[in-house]
Amino acid sequence: MGDQPLLIALVAVQFMVHALGWAMAAQLTRRRRDAEGHFAAFWLLLAVGMMLYVPAWGSGSAPRNLGDLMIVAASTLQHRGMALYWGRRPNDRGYVLWMAFVAAMLALSLTQANGHGLRVANVCIGVGVMLLATVRLTWLQGRQQTPTFAAVLAIGYAVLGVALLARSVQALTVAPTTKISIDAPGHANVPLAILFLFLGGLINLALIRLVLGRVLEHLKTQALTDALTGAANRRGLLQRLEAVHARARQGGHGYVVMMVDIDHFKAINDEHGHAEGDIVLKRVAQHLRDGLRADDMVARWGGEEFCVLLPRIRLAEAHPLAERMTVQIAATGNPRVTVSIGVAEAEVQAEGPEGATHRADAALYRAKQTGRNRVVSASGLAPG
Ligand code: GH3
Ligand code: MG
Ligand code: MG
Repeated sequence: MGDQPLLIALVAVQFMVHALGWAMAAQLTRRRRDAEGHFAAFWLLLAVGMMLYVPAWGSGSAPRNLGDLMIVAASTLQHRGMALYWGRRPNDRGYVLWMAFVAAMLALSLTQANGHGLRVANVCIGVGVMLLATVRLTWLQGRQQTPTFAAVLAIGYAVLGVALLARSVQALTVAPTTKISIDAPGHANVPLAILFLFLGGLINLALIRLVLGRVLEHLKTQALTDALTGAANRRGLLQRLEAVHARARQGGHGYVVMMVDIDHFKAINDEHGHAEGDIVLKRVAQHLRDGLRADDMVARWGGEEFCVLLPRIRLAEAHPLAERMTVQIAATGNPRVTVSIGVAEAEVQAEGPEGATHRADAALYRAKQTGRNRVVSASGLAPG
């Protein structure tokens, strides 16, 4: 089996491509010191480490020992990247101690020829323990966010970690004259190298899924949030409104919509400046949020207008709630502002998701016309 080194070189090339992909990702996201940068370094060290196995250098050669250390270091970088990904403070002392332990073991095993028992066991233990540490990390940190994926990832890493530890036991039990490392000619080593190729691809896919999932989550939140007030934006509200309306239509609870508009806001801007106006907008958004339940939603509907969506409530409770809001907003803060509120209860079977917002808007108009700083409720469906 003279082609075994070629197979190892192929595995190394694949890892090098993964390294390039992550280097690109780290560059694009400017997260060189975060998970992305660590994953690039992980694949690079793994690729170079494996590449050092390819030439048939003599016993105890320096490149080969360096390769062993690089592969173990790669696994610690992978663990550190995962820790950073989950927002954990990395245990750098632990990594250094582990590397020092592996280096000491390596020094002890130098009496053996390349690729023999203790040398192979050393690398397998070095990497296997780090993989099992990653299992723990992935499961503890990931099970809330992505329970299914975290479980799959943890099981995958666990199988790999246990397999490596089993191989270290096997390496210690063969005769010291037998070369068993992955670059040695031998029937078991061909499928093993192919398995490495496959698992390398799978692990990389899993890492991509992990990082991409978070990027998408972040973008989604941004797309549905108003930058100034931190409240939902109109798109965010409409999305929730559709869900609440659909549930109500299927026999769930009804809901109420409030349209809130700041009175004479133009004058606030004119008198105190636009920056002060922005602060007032944030304050009003916070006031509206205070005292609401977890599944209520405050959204910035436009300029100085807010929309509040209140599931599982009737008009009779919502109206006094809106009145408390107007009183509270009028009573606090400088410059003083007041708001007008239009309230409408959804007529779930008779109108679409926008029905209640239209009627709340009409009620708001009446509140403005009848003097501002007040609440007007829409009594029912608008005629026609
Ligand atoms: P009314 O009582 O009838 O609601 O009077 P108003 O002055 O509040 O109403 P109008 O709609 O005429 O004015 C809204 C003002 O809100 C005009 C605009 O300059 C201001 N505005 C809209 N968006 C922002 C913003 O993001 N920041 C600030 N500071 N002002 C904004
Ligand atoms: Mg206004
Ligand atoms: Mg307005």
